[in-house]
Amino acid sequence: MYHIVSSNISKISKNDDATINRDNNSYKTKFNSKILIIVLIGIVFHLSYTLSIFDIYFRSPLVHGMTPHKIELTPPANRLVLFVADGLRADRFYELEENQGQFHSRAPFLRSIIENRGSWGISHTRVPTETRPGHVALIAGFYEDVSAVTKGWKSNPVEFDHLFNKTKYSWGYGSPDVLLMFSDNVKTMETQVYAEEFEDFGADASNLDMWVFEKIEELFKNATKDQELNRKLKSNQIVIFLHLLGLDTNGHAYRPHSDEYLSNIKLVDRGVQKIYNLIEDFYGDQKTAYIFTSDHGMSNRGSHGDGERSNTETPIVTWGSGLRGPLPSNLQTEKIASLRGKAKEKLPVDTLTPDNWKLSHLFRSDVSQADVAPLMTSLIGLPSPLNSVGVLPIEVLSENSPEYTTAALYANTLQVWEMYQVKSDSKQKSTLLFFSPFTKLKDASKTIAKIDQLIATRQFEEAQILCHNFIELCLEGLNYFQTYDRPFLMTVITLGYFGWIITLSLYVINNYTSIGYNCNAKQLQSQIKRFETLSSYLIAITSFCFFGFLYVTDAPVLYYLYCSFLVLFWAKTIPANIVPLYLFLKDSFAQIQSSKGIYSGGQLLSSTTTTTNVSIIKNFIVIVLAAVSVMELLVVSYFYRSVLSLIYTLVGVFSIFTFYKNESLKLKLLWFGSCLMMSVFPLLPIDYGNDTNLVCFGGVLLFIISLLNYTLNIFGGASKNTKPIVNSVLMFVVLLSSYIVYSTDSALSRKIGLPYFNQIISWALLVSSFVVLSIYRGKGFYDHWNFLYLCISVPFLLLSISYEVLFVGCLVLNLTLWMYFELKTDSRLYPKLVSITSNNEPSTSLSFSKSAIKSNINDINITQQDIKRAILYIFFCYVGFFGVGNIASISSFEISSTYRFTTIFSPFLMGALLIIKIFIPLLLVAVSFSLLNNSLNVPRPGSFLIVIALTDIMSINFFFLVKDTGSWLEIGTSISHYGISNGFIILQLLLFSFSTLLVPTSLKHNNNNNRKRI
Ligand SMILES: [Zn+2]
Ligand SMILES: [Zn+2]
Repeated sequence: MYHIVSSNISKISKNDDATINRDNNSYKTKFNSKILIIVLIGIVFHLSYTLSIFDIYFRSPLVHGMTPHKIELTPPANRLVLFVADGLRADRFYELEENQGQFHSRAPFLRSIIENRGSWGISHTRVPTETRPGHVALIAGFYEDVSAVTKGWKSNPVEFDHLFNKTKYSWGYGSPDVLLMFSDNVKTMETQVYAEEFEDFGADASNLDMWVFEKIEELFKNATKDQELNRKLKSNQIVIFLHLLGLDTNGHAYRPHSDEYLSNIKLVDRGVQKIYNLIEDFYGDQKTAYIFTSDHGMSNRGSHGDGERSNTETPIVTWGSGLRGPLPSNLQTEKIASLRGKAKEKLPVDTLTPDNWKLSHLFRSDVSQADVAPLMTSLIGLPSPLNSVGVLPIEVLSENSPEYTTAALYANTLQVWEMYQVKSDSKQKSTLLFFSPFTKLKDASKTIAKIDQLIATRQFEEAQILCHNFIELCLEGLNYFQTYDRPFLMTVITLGYFGWIITLSLYVINNYTSIGYNCNAKQLQSQIKRFETLSSYLIAITSFCFFGFLYVTDAPVLYYLYCSFLVLFWAKTIPANIVPLYLFLKDSFAQIQSSKGIYSGGQLLSSTTTTTNVSIIKNFIVIVLAAVSVMELLVVSYFYRSVLSLIYTLVGVFSIFTFYKNESLKLKLLWFGSCLMMSVFPLLPIDYGNDTNLVCFGGVLLFIISLLNYTLNIFGGASKNTKPIVNSVLMFVVLLSSYIVYSTDSALSRKIGLPYFNQIISWALLVSSFVVLSIYRGKGFYDHWNFLYLCISVPFLLLSISYEVLFVGCLVLNLTLWMYFELKTDSRLYPKLVSITSNNEPSTSLSFSKSAIKSNINDINITQQDIKRAILYIFFCYVGFFGVGNIASISSFEISSTYRFTTIFSPFLMGALLIIKIFIPLLLVAVSFSLLNNSLNVPRPGSFLIVIALTDIMSINFFFLVKDTGSWLEIGTSISHYGISNGFIILQLLLFSFSTLLVPTSLKHNNNNNRKRI
């Protein structure tokens, strides 16, 4: 990449003529080593810049070196029982079921607790709403940074302090994924977990909960015989933790409306009642505190992970020793508001209680998920976990001992304050120059002294208010240092993206347009020398400034990488590649000046070169504007899927009146109709349930479309030299797959599990379709296209649960017509149709070629039409990706899609199958684009670079749209947007390589004029 121009020069210098002879076509169309370097740099660039949001927006909050703050008074409870109903969402738990005018709770025992002995509320969780971060927030009190995802949530990236390593003894039962995360290296914790195979989605998952309840019963039964166990259970500061995975598993398998999920809530309620009675009988001292909550909710689609409200709202019910009983809701007045004033405001969603919960008469105490950690430790007299950012929710504590409540809140405050100090100190140490401290906490020592004094004089309420305000400031200060590097990094990243886009554009201009080839060699050489010197100065200066600054501030390694790209693009590749464009602009400018001069002198001379240059610039600006506006529209489509429908309709209308206006009316109508059909899909709801009939119908539709392609033979050529055996077999296989789907689903709905025979057939079809794809090559253009979409559709059919197959069928039809029109209208094949701008000189189209006719440059250059096609291609990719999915999150791709292959939960296998499913529509789009590029002899590397440069316009948008404030829905959504738009670029690399493998270069479009028409 560094030598892009220098190699041009060597060519130029060998050639005395000012323009370069371009008979060497193969060099243009193949991916050569320079392109390979660009691609590699592109991958590293996008990976590291994707990671940059973790440095900018989501840095690990953990700091080390704090000491625990003890509460010096006797705690109200001797022990704590924590129930976590994994995947239980708030509304399914609280709402009442109506049965013949009577309202019943699904959890009558916990309901009676809420009404008679405890408090209730919503525990607001943060994204990602997954099991591991949910439990870390509950038990360790901090929101694990999102980057822990990369470690698979399995092992702990860093050791952290939590509830269980502080207790005297603790017992935990449940899923290995959760329990082992906390019991590692904690000698005082006894855990029992079931095997992972036990978590079978096909079977009834409430067995998982039964297992946990039985284990607790066993524990207390054993205690009557085992003296040692009895002694341990009778000691203070112990925790019993029940992790109940049944609801999560049933929610994934049957969704949260299902009878399975709802009756699982009833089962959990009965279990909680049983354990409560058991424990009360065993101890008989009323010294137990109980907390019932959940790690995350469950969306209507049976998934979680994103910031949807159904995922972030989980129930919390607290009762027992040290905890308050029910309060009337009218108490929700200024007193409480002032106590938790700011904390309340931060809660992400409105706090209206839905009517059908029938709970508005009772005071509701909402918490942030991390608040549960200091609540639990305070109840049994332990210090808060060291990195906890939770604020003790004092309004759920008993009103009987304000002294203890205040002491606990004070200890909580000191712990957060110390964390702030550690963070502030370390930032100050690493920032030698220009350190700007957090000013709001200047008077911290005074505030602490004041709180001390208030506690000493037993003015508890005032002390609590001060503590709350102070803790809020500390959290704000923590956030300040958390985001300290942000302005610097954001500038670096933005400039990096622009540098990359400009580098790509310059490379395309130099190698695939006449600007790069029609340069005056002598001028070019002398200018390049100048720019090279400039470049080396720039490199020296920028490297010195950046790396010196990073070294002095002790910056992380990745910061060096971000800055290296900045230096690479702005100081190296841009100066090295800008010369031809610079000369071209200089030339044009001079010509405009001179022609003006001549004109003002009274002589009317027309200079053809000038007009050509000017129109090239004009066309270029038009294309750039068009590209940017389509990309911006696609950005909007992330927020409103219906924009995709709008664009589709516009494409349909616009193209039949412009690009394709000379085609037969029938085909134009068919094309317009297929665009309209496609525009329906983004309008359909994404919470679609399972509908086997639609899947089978889609299979039949695909069959009909391929039949149409053969019998109607709109493209001609196909009938001559094809032996359609392979494709006929494939058409049969499509029908077979539909049948397999039908029979598997009916077996699953009868709950007899996944039939072994069907599973084998499904796997065989999946594997063999990929094998056949990689071996077989069709005869001729359309034969191969028919083969490709049939073969690619088979695995998709097996992974579909509803109307997705219809979507793919319509997409195939749409792409087929698109390719047909593009082939017919491209100027390379039909020079007469070249001008969209009603100008018959191809020289003014965006081939940038002044001497197009002479040097036959149009055969090999990137033209206006290629850029148009690239834009449409990106649009089709978006439709392929989002046509049937949710833009907000990948988790919307339903896990039940994989049930024809496996029903046993295994994240990696299921994830891989889902990725194949997501990939298939994209692959269809990519192979059709590749077929087109091959047939039209478009330089593939060139069109690839254009696609990448265009998609990065969107990445910059989403980089700025990443949010770390506001509701968790917005935050989660913004992260996935940025991730997806960056991922698209890496995805394009994959798609281009795949489609290059699947589409042989030898396949040429049958360019004869005796096509049949329908
Ligand atoms: Zn979970
Ligand atoms: Zn789950």
